[in-house]
Amino acid sequence: MHLVDVHTHLDHPQFEKDLLDVIKRAKAAGIVAVITQGVDHERNLALLELAKLDPMIKVAFGMYPLDALNVEVDPELAAGDDYSRRTKTSFADTLDAIEEHKDAIIAIGEVGMDFKYSKDHETQSANFRQIVRLAKRIHKPLIVHSRNAEKEILDILEDEQYFHVDMHCFSGSRKLLERGIKLGLMFSIPTNVVRNQQFQQAVEALPIGNILTETDAPYLGPYKDLRNEPANIKEAILKIAELKRMDPVEVANAIYFNYQKMFL
Ligand SMILES: [Zn+2]
Repeated sequence: MHLVDVHTHLDHPQFEKDLLDVIKRAKAAGIVAVITQGVDHERNLALLELAKLDPMIKVAFGMYPLDALNVEVDPELAAGDDYSRRTKTSFADTLDAIEEHKDAIIAIGEVGMDFKYSKDHETQSANFRQIVRLAKRIHKPLIVHSRNAEKEILDILEDEQYFHVDMHCFSGSRKLLERGIKLGLMFSIPTNVVRNQQFQQAVEALPIGNILTETDAPYLGPYKDLRNEPANIKEAILKIAELKRMDPVEVANAIYFNYQKMFL
């Protein structure tokens, strides 16, 4: 079985001590690709070094929507999130660096819009539109984060006619999910699908051809309060197989096919 984790954060401080063991366990579980996400310019560049640890590790350069705004997040709103949210580099310079390193990266991510932690919808929309145009120009798939901004994201993608997109952790309405399916978008289902009803319903609604798997590690694990890691993808495969009434090997093969179509 070839398993894939299309959205993870291997540079997260929670992996500092035992990253090599995490990689070993991922391989033992059948993981062949882990796309680790950049959230700002400095971390994007550091990921190129991290990827040298193993060919399984693929790099996406991105800009977390709040970093792109260069705003400090209200610590109360961001409770439990241990990433700092201020980058030294401007949004424009980050986009330039994405273009400069386009041959070293597999995708642009994570990028998107976050209306929960910032009310500046206008700047976020303008930034996201610029990123979509860059992706289109350099032919890279987008891995999109959206929080309470699903409709606006779909509007911009439609406007720009760019659908080479994975919606990470999509939590929009059923109506918006169906709109995304019609546009041909991919939806990466996180490992907490084993215990999260919303993602279970999304799996039921999604054709298997639109499904990818992700961990968002160290977050969104199958076991509450335990650090997540790529090896846990196998739990998501089992749950998706159960929900789709398919054989787990058949599910894994279909998702690997989707991965190849999307990223290779
Ligand atoms: Zn993420």
